[in-house]
Amino acid sequence: MNKKTVKDIDVQGKRALVRVDFNVPLSSKDPADTITVTDDTRIMAALPTLNYLLENGAALILCSHLGRPKSPEDTHLRMDPVAARLSDILGRPVTKLDEVVGESVTAAVADMQPGDIILLENTRFEAGEKKNNPELAQALADLADIFVGDAFGTAHRAHASTEGAAKAIQAKGGAAVAGFLLGKEIDALGRAISAPPKPYVAIMGGAKISDKIQVIDNLLAIADRVLIGGGMANTFFKAQGLEIGTSLCEDEAVPQAKKLMEEFGDQIFLPVDVRVADGFAADANYKDVAINEIPADMMALDIGPATIEAFAGLLSDAKLVIWNGPMGVTEFPAFANGTEGIGKMLAGQVDSGTEVIIGGGDSAAAVKKLGLAEKMSHVSTGGGASLELLEGKPLPGIVVLDDK
Ligand code: ADP
Ligand code: MG
Repeated sequence: MNKKTVKDIDVQGKRALVRVDFNVPLSSKDPADTITVTDDTRIMAALPTLNYLLENGAALILCSHLGRPKSPEDTHLRMDPVAARLSDILGRPVTKLDEVVGESVTAAVADMQPGDIILLENTRFEAGEKKNNPELAQALADLADIFVGDAFGTAHRAHASTEGAAKAIQAKGGAAVAGFLLGKEIDALGRAISAPPKPYVAIMGGAKISDKIQVIDNLLAIADRVLIGGGMANTFFKAQGLEIGTSLCEDEAVPQAKKLMEEFGDQIFLPVDVRVADGFAADANYKDVAINEIPADMMALDIGPATIEAFAGLLSDAKLVIWNGPMGVTEFPAFANGTEGIGKMLAGQVDSGTEVIIGGGDSAAAVKKLGLAEKMSHVSTGGGASLELLEGKPLPGIVVLDDK
């Protein structure tokens, strides 16, 4: 994916409409409270792009969605706390407007000078946002000279403030480019689906195989090996006629798992042992058993030690690893061993030159909790978007951007 970034265009004196991901957690849902941002990770993540644009003489019109408002009446989802935090971080004024588009916005934008920063109201206060309404997209485009897309988490949806506004700015001759955050995602995940370094090993885990069967299918065509752990391994066990006890399993997906095993059997690697528990609970009794010894009244909640070792062997020569989905129920410490073992092993591989990319919301949270996130080559910020990209689907918010 050869997309232009802010570095490839002239931003001096330009008004830039920057679609960021400021969908941050807030301290309260009660509009009567003083609402603050409780985790500013996503605001911090946008800084490289914002600082670059400011240092190079652009004026910034920032926009983002925040939560899932049904209408502007959901006043607890106004962008004011975000503007306050951003202003604190940057040490300069951020003008928060109370509309997404409209007279107040047009007037404020008309007076903008390089270095000025405006934050528009929550884009999802507009009913046209998720419908990619052309009038809303045009009204946003009318505000600016260039479009900068930096919200990977919404890149798989064509919304008015993502794909729509980018197209409308291009239609009037303006550039539509990626910010640094989106550029990093495009580089890392793009490599995982086209011309990856080899050996290329994918690790798939998590709960639901139905969410990821397309990803597995697509990866089997590109990756040398696909290692399967987590809850989805049970569906493969069942497809092989193994007893899985009370383990999570998607019976509807058994035929698909069977088909994948038949077609790609030599590329798919399943656990050889699992940690079984007598209930889905942090304090459940557990033991490690071979996969042909799962008791009828127990459930597999993690991969076992022999599997960690086997997977480590299958990963040891990899040049590129993409990992999506935890190896077990990491919410319970007793069943986080598999994820921790694989995570530590991969962190070590990065030191010796292997590129390791983590995709998926729960996977990202798990490596963060283990203190391994910084060690990985790339931890994707977009759960749904990274999955769709790995499925081989074009992401409208990326496709629309100017090619290099
Ligand atoms: P991601 O968000 O990284 O794509 P998923 O949402 O697919 O990952 O899966 C994460 C969930 O899978 C976690 O809530 C975890 O508890 C669950 N999970 C992992 N292994 C098992 C298992 N063996 N049985 C039941 N649930 C599991
Ligand atoms: Mg998830």
